[in-house]
Amino acid sequence: MLYKVLTKNDYVRLVKGLIEDYKMIGPKKKDKAVHDFVHIKDMAELDTNYTRTTIPPAKKILFPPKEKLVEYEIGNEIKIKPVIESEEMILFGVNAWDINGINFLDQFFSTDFVDENYWEKREKITVIGLDIDPIETNFALSMNAEYATEGFDLYLTDLGDRYFTRVATAKGNQLLNSYTEAKEATQKDFKDFDSYMDNYRSKFTNKVDIKSFYDNFELIYDNEEFWKKAAKDCLSCGSCNLVCPTCFCFNVQDDLELNLKKGAKTREWDSCMIPEYGLVAGGHNFRPDKENRLKQRYRCKLKTFYDKFGQYSCVGCGRCIEACLAKINIAEDINSVKKEVNV
Ligand code: SF4
Ligand code: SF4
Repeated sequence: MLYKVLTKNDYVRLVKGLIEDYKMIGPKKKDKAVHDFVHIKDMAELDTNYTRTTIPPAKKILFPPKEKLVEYEIGNEIKIKPVIESEEMILFGVNAWDINGINFLDQFFSTDFVDENYWEKREKITVIGLDIDPIETNFALSMNAEYATEGFDLYLTDLGDRYFTRVATAKGNQLLNSYTEAKEATQKDFKDFDSYMDNYRSKFTNKVDIKSFYDNFELIYDNEEFWKKAAKDCLSCGSCNLVCPTCFCFNVQDDLELNLKKGAKTREWDSCMIPEYGLVAGGHNFRPDKENRLKQRYRCKLKTFYDKFGQYSCVGCGRCIEACLAKINIAEDINSVKKEVNV
């Protein structure tokens, strides 16, 4: 890792150069509350001051909500053509917890099975991170996701009059050298960066006791009353999955033309919280009850992948709390486990 400093003018030159020479995806204000990652064609469109959150998360660039996987033709023989769409682009302004979300997806899409549709995109993307203040529902600090140590090419921290810049790859360094006169960080820059981080971390006011949840999960696993109470108001809408930067479930469907000669297989984001998720041929449903679906979602987020990868599949972004019309709050539910086992 190299540590450099950009002046504010350097920053403007960098952003303008990237917009001119690359396809740059960055946060743009969508409405009063929400930003989205879209193709930025002019610096005025870029709004990195997104104190709430982006919906959907930037993972949609790597794992689109709907994506064709193969096309096929049925004749004397069956011809199958894989469809993998990818292009070089810059993903600008992603915050630390969403970069950690991408790091989780990197592990998921390369362990047991390498997902080429994901990786072709991932390898062509240059990630430029940027620190963003957390909103009140964000508990990334408790999930150890408020700081990204990998998964980016450049990471910028706004120190007020300059940007402290972590350079993680040769590609990132080459971009800095092309557009800026970045200088090596001095001792004072490091000191100011440390003060910034102390202040930044103090802004994460939503705290969870994730260790207690993890340690006690098996104790409450069969406690039906606990799960019924937690899922009581759930509408089974699936919004919590759709806004999540780490949810990876998808459904594959066949689109066959009427002549039955050509078709395509397409994947679409799926949700473990909707009743149809556990429905299989013959009409049996493995998870017909919303309390079991919620329990399974929490197990996936807060237990299973910690055991498998040593990393939770929840980065604490708080999006699912914001999106839930029934006010189901994963942070409160994590903390309620400790109270339940201590009763
Ligand atoms: S967003 Fe809320 S109501 Fe909808 S499925 Fe998730 S927990 Fe249930
Ligand atoms: S489960 Fe909720 S808080 Fe955790 S990463 Fe997903 S959307 Fe964010």
